[in-house]
Amino acid sequence: MQHLTGLVVFTDLDGTLLDHDDYSWEAARPALTRLRKNDIPLLAISSKTLAELRAINSQHHLFAGLIGENGGVIDINDDIRQPGPPTATIDAARTAIAKAISVPVAGFRTSTAAEIATATGLPPNEAALAGQRNCSDPLIWAPTAKDITLAGNIAREYGLKLVKGGRFYTLCGETDKGAAMQTALKMLQKAGKLPTGRADITTIALGDSPNDAGMLAHADIAVQIPVKHGPVPTLDLGGKTARIAPAPGPDGWNSTINSILDDLSQTPTSITKAR
Ligand SMILES: [Mg+2]
Repeated sequence: MQHLTGLVVFTDLDGTLLDHDDYSWEAARPALTRLRKNDIPLLAISSKTLAELRAINSQHHLFAGLIGENGGVIDINDDIRQPGPPTATIDAARTAIAKAISVPVAGFRTSTAAEIATATGLPPNEAALAGQRNCSDPLIWAPTAKDITLAGNIAREYGLKLVKGGRFYTLCGETDKGAAMQTALKMLQKAGKLPTGRADITTIALGDSPNDAGMLAHADIAVQIPVKHGPVPTLDLGGKTARIAPAPGPDGWNSTINSILDDLSQTPTSITKAR
């Protein structure tokens, strides 16, 4: 497999490798097996915490590296880097917000698993993992409009942002998945998992949503996985064109990785036999 050396794959999880509805990656098993047989490192890059990613990986052993909190924290073979803001800064900003505004404020970092479970609907064991945060903290509060403005201003004073997600306002930094990918590449090179010359490395990235755009823009081969329900978003990849997978989730993941590996190895017959 001479042609497949120097390859590395970065993947988003929810809606990309994992099915949007049942979180299964089973449909991607053939491509995952092929990556493993060819010693191609696969890295997870997700909004999940390192604790959540470690729990997935200790069960399934899919990943050679874990990038959590949207690029804020990286773990490759227990070498941990935190491109995101220091944990102490997150805590200091949350404390300052709590003092300044009119309603009580907790973060996942200061809440018990039971409290996080109540706020999120997660089972308590998963809530505990979601609470182990390095560089971002969803707030549990019931703010007025004035509180939100005030909290946003305080976040900025600490060099942070207050970002409204689906359900929570999250205190976080300016991290992005694209920058984390560059750092992870250097860590993999240092660990001897990739060639030392950047020109000898080919990066493949797969994602489904706007927060994956930075990662796809930095990849040599970008793959957009269509969302399962609703319209497929147009991602700003800075002029780069992504391949669009033929199906959502692990199905599309599987066929696109297989076709990229076929193209790169240019020996589809021998690969079919090897499978
Ligand atoms: Mg996603």
